[in-house]
Formats: sequence, C-alpha cells, structure tokens
Amino acid sequence: MKDFNRKMAPRKSFDTENWFIESYRRHKGHPMRILLSLYRGNYHKFVLAVIYFFIKHACVWVLPIVTANIINDVTNQNPDTVRNIIFYTVFEGLLIAINVPMNYLYTAYKSLATRYVETGLRKALVRKLQQLSISYHVETQSGRLHSKIMRDVEAVETLSTQMFLSILNIALNIAVALVVTGTKSKTVLVFFVFAAPVAAVTMVSFRNVMRRRNTEFRKEMEETSARIMEMVQLVPVTRAHALEDKEAYKVSAQLLAVAEKGYRLDVVQALFGSVGWAIFQLFQVVCLAFTGYLAIRGSIQVGDITLYQSYFATVVNQVSAIVTLLPTITKGIESVNSIGEVLLSEDIERNEGKTQLADVEGVFDFQNVGFHYKNSENAVLHDFNLHVAKGETIAFVGESGAGKSTILNMVIGFHMAQSGAVCLDGHDLRMIDLRTYRKHLAVVPQTSILFSGTIRENITYGCENVRDEELMEVVKAANLLDLIESLPDGLDTQVGEHGGKLSGGQRQRIAIARALIRNPKIIVLDEATSALDSISEKMIQEAINNLVKGRTTFIVAHRLSTIREADRIAVIADGNCVEYGTYEELMAKKGAFYQMKVLQS
Ligand code: ADP
Repeated sequence: MKDFNRKMAPRKSFDTENWFIESYRRHKGHPMRILLSLYRGNYHKFVLAVIYFFIKHACVWVLPIVTANIINDVTNQNPDTVRNIIFYTVFEGLLIAINVPMNYLYTAYKSLATRYVETGLRKALVRKLQQLSISYHVETQSGRLHSKIMRDVEAVETLSTQMFLSILNIALNIAVALVVTGTKSKTVLVFFVFAAPVAAVTMVSFRNVMRRRNTEFRKEMEETSARIMEMVQLVPVTRAHALEDKEAYKVSAQLLAVAEKGYRLDVVQALFGSVGWAIFQLFQVVCLAFTGYLAIRGSIQVGDITLYQSYFATVVNQVSAIVTLLPTITKGIESVNSIGEVLLSEDIERNEGKTQLADVEGVFDFQNVGFHYKNSENAVLHDFNLHVAKGETIAFVGESGAGKSTILNMVIGFHMAQSGAVCLDGHDLRMIDLRTYRKHLAVVPQTSILFSGTIRENITYGCENVRDEELMEVVKAANLLDLIESLPDGLDTQVGEHGGKLSGGQRQRIAIARALIRNPKIIVLDEATSALDSISEKMIQEAINNLVKGRTTFIVAHRLSTIREADRIAVIADGNCVEYGTYEELMAKKGAFYQMKVLQS
C-alpha cells in the first residue's frame, strides 16, 4: 500500500487537500480550470500516457494505408508485389504486437493520475466535513453528503478520463484521417470537412437541454439517497407504529420522481445520440458512392476507396464519440460544482490564530447571552445569565423546547453567543481555539452513539495507549464491571452496529466510561429521557456521580435522583433562567420548580 501511495503521489509533495480547496476557490465558476488545477504535480503522468497512447494506437491509423496499398499492389501486379505484401504484413503485425504492452503502460499512468485526484477529492471532502459547523451537519442530510463523496467524485474521475484522454484520442484520430486524406485527394478532404459543421450544430443544440435535465436528475438522486437513509434509520419507529405502507408509499413517490427525471434525461440523450448517428451514416453511404464515382473517373485508385471509407468511418465515429461524450462531460461538470458546494462552504469552525488554552479550570460565565437559530426568527436565549463555579454540577430543568440543549451546545462551542458572551475561565469562547478547550471536555449525549467495534474501542475512542489498570478503573466507576465479566469476550465483545447488541442503560454507561477515561475538567451530559427500571437507574446514577466528582458539570436532568445530587438547579423557561438554587431552596420557594415537581409526582 505504501508503495502504491508513493507511485500515486505527485512530483513534489504538498498538502493535497488544502490545494484542492484552494483550486476551487481560485477558479470558482470555471469547472474545467478547477479540474486541470487538481492535477498539479501529475501532468507528467498525462504526458507519458499520451505518448504510450500514440504508440499503442499507431496500428489502427496505419491499417487503412496498409490495406489500400496491398489492394493496389494486387490490382496492378509487378515483380515487387509479393515482397511488398510481406513487408506490409510484418510491419502491421509488429505494430499490433506492441499494442498490448503500450496499452498497459498507457492505462497505468492514466489511472495513477485520475485515481490520485479521485482519492484527493474524497479526502478533501472528508476533512471538510470534519471542519463544517455542527449546524451545517444538522441542516444537511447525510445521504446528500454521502452522494457527493461517492457519486460525484466518481463522475469527476470519468470526466477527467474523458476530457484528457478520450478527447485527445478523438482529436488524434480525426487529425490522422484528415492529414492522410488531404495528402492523397483534396476533393475527398473537402467532402470530409463538410461533415464536421453538421456534427457541431447537432451537438450544440442539444447541450443546453441536457445540462438542465442533468441538474434536475442529480438533485432528485441526492434527495432519494437522503430519503432512503432516513427511512432505514427510521425502520424501528415505522414498524412500531405500523406505518410500513405509508413509509413505503412516501419512498415510492420519491423513486417515481427519480424515474421520471431519469426518463426525461434518457429520452433527450437517446434523441441526441440517434439523430447524430443517422446523419453520419447517411454521409458514409454518400461517401462510398462519391469515392466510387471518383475511381470510375480514374481520379483515385480502386484500393483507395477502402482507405477513404475507413478514414471517413473514423471521422464519423469520432464525431459521434464526442456526441456520446457530451452527457458524461455535462454530468462531470455538474459534479465538479456539486463538490464545490461543500468544499467552498464558509460555515466552518475557525480556530486558527485564536488563544490556545494550556489548562482549563472550568469556571463558566454566561453574560447576557442572546442566541437564535439561523432558520428561525425567535430568539432561543435572550439576556441569559449564569455563573458556574469550578467543579460545580448544575442541572438544567424546564419544559421541552425551553432551550436546555441549546445551552449545552453553547458550552461545547457548537453554537456561539450572538450577543453577550459565554466565558470559560474569563476567556470568551469565540476567542479561543476550541480544540484546545475540548481536550478537557467530555460529552455524554442523550442517545449514546456507539460505533461498530469492541466495547474497549468504544470506551477508549480517541485515547491512545490506555493502560489496562486505567481502563478497569473506569469500567468499575461506570458500573460496567458486572456486564463485562458476564460477557465471554469481556472488553473485546463486539457491540454490533450502533451498539445494537446492548441495552439502552448499558450503552449509556459505556458513554459515561468514554467520558471518564478522558479525565476531563468539564462534562456536558444530556440525560436520556427514556424510563429505566430502578436497578438500571441506580447503576447509571452511581456512574454519573463518579463521573461528575470534582468536575464542572452541565446536565440536562430528567431524573429526580440526578436533580437532587446537583449542586444547583437552573430552571429554564422561554430562553431565560427563571429560578436558580439548590434543590431544597427551590422546593422551599414554592415557585416554578416546585410546581413542576408537584405536577410530575
Ligand atoms: P430543550 O433542550 O429545552 O428541549 P432546545 O434547546 O432543543 O430545547 O430548543 C430550543 C428551541 O430552539 C426550540 O423551540 C426548538 O424548536 C428550537 N431549535 C432547536 N434546534 C434548532 C435548529 N437546529 N434549528 C432551528 N430551531 C431549533
């Protein structure tokens, strides 16, 4: 693999992914220039590919000449006829023999260059996806992004091959045919040249229609990809509510829409191809009649009829090839732009040049914080104030939609205050390199996200060289010891896709262990809302207590046990902190919190 990487690498090493983004920025709106720029450092591979192509293809160009000469020699026999025939046969035979190794070399160089760009684009997209803001990800369906990384990049790869090599092949074929014809008969050349404008007119008139249809089709495909992924994720909910038919109907409607767009695209493409084909076939028949007539008049030799016929067929086929290529090229250009939508997105978290935190205390201050989501008018938070001391556990309670998760996301730095400020140890979060802060942060989300792998891998996610004793301590603190000991493979048990083989409570404790192993200063915990039996609840509560000890903790709390354990409780309503204090204080106050508790019990 290393060896292949070296082969594929550009001449001078540079940061490919950054260069790709830079290419997009520099040549915005010019897909062909963007594409060319992506090949920086690999142009020599294309030159080599072209040279090998030229040698490999020589046998095809020479064959009509060899055929015509042999026929002419046989028609006008002379003492050298046999010698000439042997010479032509051996010469053509040699050209055919070297075709195989040359074709190998040509493909190898072409492939190295195009695969490099293909991989580079995917790597650039993947890196960009990791930089894009969380809001971007929330708003963009993952299927759409998936389609860009897979389908669009593939279309760009095809475009490169077509642009740089098929077009070159076509140009060379046409040039050879025209030059040889021109040197032999000007009359026939004029006839050939006449065919080209007809082709051009046919091409241009259809190109615009196709471009529009292609965009429609791509959008519809992305939408479908997103819909299907969503449907698959939703299967348990759908089935639980017996909504299979409804869901299937919704997806079928989408599939039908794709089929319609696809059909319209196919029809336009077919029409485009066949009109061109028919026109040129007619020309070929006319060419045969025309050269036959010239031979009768004695202007050309009989054998040359086959030469002109072959070259005319070449020109016809090559122009048709351009016609067939157009959809691929249009699709490729469309994909270059589609990838640009992601690579050029400005919605990213910028950390460069900001204050780097060597250490974190964990003191938070929300000062008159105001925040609203981009796509909504209403402010989620307004003039929100809160001071959280080092090591303090603060529980947020309040109705759903009050803004609790938004506050947690602001602590993580996913959302930034639009007015006022959120400060950590006196630093405005907008001014610090969030990556340095997040090294001291652990997040336990509401639905514990596990990846397919072992329990060990899920706990140590992102931490290298974790000692076994450390890991066991964490396992104990997260109340996972009994579970691990009951499994035949222990920590090395596979959790299945998304942790499907574990219960909700077990997944949560693994997520807590994952937070613990990072030994963070700050914890953000969105408690799962699902009801648990009292044993599971007790186990989770103990794990949470071990986790939050001595750490600044923000919890969206749903369980009474968690709320009681918290140092302070903030009651959130309408984007504000309406009550604040210890459990006892708030109960004694008989205000909003007291009312909530009374309602719940
Ligand atoms: P809670 O966690 O208290 O249930 P949230 O912080 O999730 O509340 O939501 C607060 C408000 O912001 C709600 O009215 C919700 O509809 C809105 N909201 C949440 N996320 C988004 C989003 N990504 N885009 C637009 N509005 C959002």
